[in-house]
Amino acid sequence: MKIFKFGGASVKSADGVRNLQKIVKDNHNEKLVIVVSAMGKMTNALEKVTNSFFERKADMTANLQTVINFHKEIIDALFEDKTIIDNRLTKLYDDLNEILQQKPSLSYDYEYDRIVSFGELISTSIVATYLQQENPAIQFVDIRAGLKTDDNYREGNVDMKLSEQLCAPLFSQPDKNIFITQGFIAGTITNQTTTLGREGSDYTAAILANLLHAESVTIWKDVPGVMTADPKRYKEVQIIPKLSYKEAIELSYCGASVIHPKTVKPLQNKKIPLFVKSFLEPEKAGSVINEYSYKLDLPPIYINKNNQVLLTLTPRDFSFIAEEKLSKIFGVLASYRLKVSLMQTSAISFSFCMDYNAMNFQQLVQEFKNDFEVLYNTDVELITIRHHTKEIIEKLVGEKTVFVEQRNRLTARFVVSE
Ligand code: ASP
Ligand code: MG
Repeated sequence: MKIFKFGGASVKSADGVRNLQKIVKDNHNEKLVIVVSAMGKMTNALEKVTNSFFERKADMTANLQTVINFHKEIIDALFEDKTIIDNRLTKLYDDLNEILQQKPSLSYDYEYDRIVSFGELISTSIVATYLQQENPAIQFVDIRAGLKTDDNYREGNVDMKLSEQLCAPLFSQPDKNIFITQGFIAGTITNQTTTLGREGSDYTAAILANLLHAESVTIWKDVPGVMTADPKRYKEVQIIPKLSYKEAIELSYCGASVIHPKTVKPLQNKKIPLFVKSFLEPEKAGSVINEYSYKLDLPPIYINKNNQVLLTLTPRDFSFIAEEKLSKIFGVLASYRLKVSLMQTSAISFSFCMDYNAMNFQQLVQEFKNDFEVLYNTDVELITIRHHTKEIIEKLVGEKTVFVEQRNRLTARFVVSE
């Protein structure tokens, strides 16, 4: 069995869905589990619906209409006989409307998951219905019945043991050899909908591979593989044909957006290779992430993480930055679901970088101000260079103002003004 994962960009149009079908047909000899994300930017659009619902704003209807119209355009272009898909979608929109007509509960995260998950439910319904017209041996699976998490809404923790038991029968059914299911979403044991964190479909693919003992995972992307830098930003980038799990987890952790950082562990644990390939040029080899018994010679790889904020906290009482203070700081960060991208301590100061979110930043600063002097700089960028050389550091950092610098044999990181 192989796992194929198609992200939002690969199914953002009717042509995208047709292209997916072609890739699946070209692999007709395989038993396949196809994991699909919400189409295009529909998760963002559904976040807007959630926000207007939760804050009881009048723009909810218009925001919902954006979601409906986007899918309608794709459906109109894909299906000659729309009745087959209309029946399925009407049921989904009815369920969604039923939620939206109620009063929101007190938990934003709970509401978020049960609304935003419709992106994946709609996309997989469209894709499965379209492919089933030609191949009735394709099976639609509602992943919420098999992939079980706790009730940590918006970042559910997967119960691997229970999910393994439940997924095994779901993905082995007589006469079915292609399964289409949702990325990103899951369910609790009481069948509440949860999600695994933004961009979590890669992670779903990796978990399913682990649970179903798949032979490989392929992530179909709009880039030709894992690149030495962001091809949208730099001209002279190359594909990296082979990477170790360790290299991949370091790169994604440092902000390389090509795969979700949580994707590597479930694969490494079972030694399942991960292919990253272009859905536009599926015949090309792309990149393979795997375990290698020999050392891979890698060129400099660099990642620019924009929209960062650098904060420096100094205890007001002049006490050391030690375990107690650090655990307090991380407690506050965890309560805001913030992830630190770089940190540095001195005797009485703690500096760290994280994604800047204008929505709750001032509130966070106020909270820290109870115990710390707080300094911050919002217009900064974090540059990470793996396998650095003098030339590449000169090229990327050059004359920029450097606020923080960290360097070891393999990795150099710089917080610079944007
Ligand atoms: N649709 C979800 C998101 O955009 C999950 C994913 O794309 O991986 O965050
Ligand atoms: Mg997406």
